[in-house]
Amino acid sequence: AKDAGKRTYRMFAPQMDDKVSEYIWLDRNLRKALDLDQLELYYQPKLCLETGVVRSVEALLRWDSPERGRISPIDFIKFAEDSGLIVPLGKWVMRTAAKQAASWLASGLNIRVAINVSARQLSNSFVVQDFAQAIRESGHASCLLDIELTESCLIEDEAMALAAIRQFRELGAQIHLDDFGTGYSSLSQVARLPLDMIKLDRSFVSAINEKPTSQALVRSMVAVAEQLKIQVVAEGVETDAEAEFLKSIGVDYAQGYLYARPMPAKEFADWLNNKGK
Ligand code: C2E
Ligand code: CA
Ligand code: CA
Ligand code: CA
Repeated sequence: AKDAGKRTYRMFAPQMDDKVSEYIWLDRNLRKALDLDQLELYYQPKLCLETGVVRSVEALLRWDSPERGRISPIDFIKFAEDSGLIVPLGKWVMRTAAKQAASWLASGLNIRVAINVSARQLSNSFVVQDFAQAIRESGHASCLLDIELTESCLIEDEAMALAAIRQFRELGAQIHLDDFGTGYSSLSQVARLPLDMIKLDRSFVSAINEKPTSQALVRSMVAVAEQLKIQVVAEGVETDAEAEFLKSIGVDYAQGYLYARPMPAKEFADWLNNKGK
């Protein structure tokens, strides 16, 4: 009877069943990964389009599961947000990134590290305290971290987001608006926020040389940023043609496989040292 019940359930909601078992697996194993040091931050450089100089990187989570191998953040961040695990996970990211930036600085590399912070983290009342603590414990007095927020952060609770943004900035972090153009925040909302940088979403960048309307779209987004006196970085730059176009319309920074993939800390330091030669 039990089996029959299960079959019926499967018939009606096979995908939901898969999703439940996946969440159970993630719940058990992502907690463990955090405790057992199976997580790592990779770093992807952002280049000044004018000079090619690198002064900052984005930190991106990687999970090496003994059971499944490398798991992409796309496959576990959503779960971490839903379950609340994103809070301790995000704390680990802050601490690790701050320590890494301090250690690069001690070895002569002056690099700022941007971390991704999701809406769920921003609505946790300890997020600013955790951030301040990560900086204090990093071994370097000033803040070497910046924060990438998505538009969903702003929609969920604008007042709360704004309060957190102000405090992060007081601590010395720049605020970057991630995936710009893909969300639902209005331009007037963006204009109200104290932002330092807008990240043009990869979907717009990769369409530059494919859809005729894309160039006009990207051009107008950059013009808006310029009006608001906010800098622009383009993500997912993969070809010289894209880079040339972005540079020609006044985009300040670029990030993407054309320059470098996200890589472990040591590899990034080697990449940067070789770049000047
Ligand atoms: P995102 O913040 O939009 O990050 C950009 C994604 O594009 C990264 O994927 C990066 O590896 C990838 N990328 C960079 N350059 C190129 C390119 O030229 N071409 C292509 N096709 N892709 C490129 P990744 O590392 O898989 O991360 C996916 C998403 O997971 C991130 O999107 C971010 O939303 C989330 N994520 C990653 N790390 C963290 C974290 O520490 N905390 C939180 N809350 N979210 C994170
Ligand atoms: Ca990002
Ligand atoms: Ca992005
Ligand atoms: Ca994205």
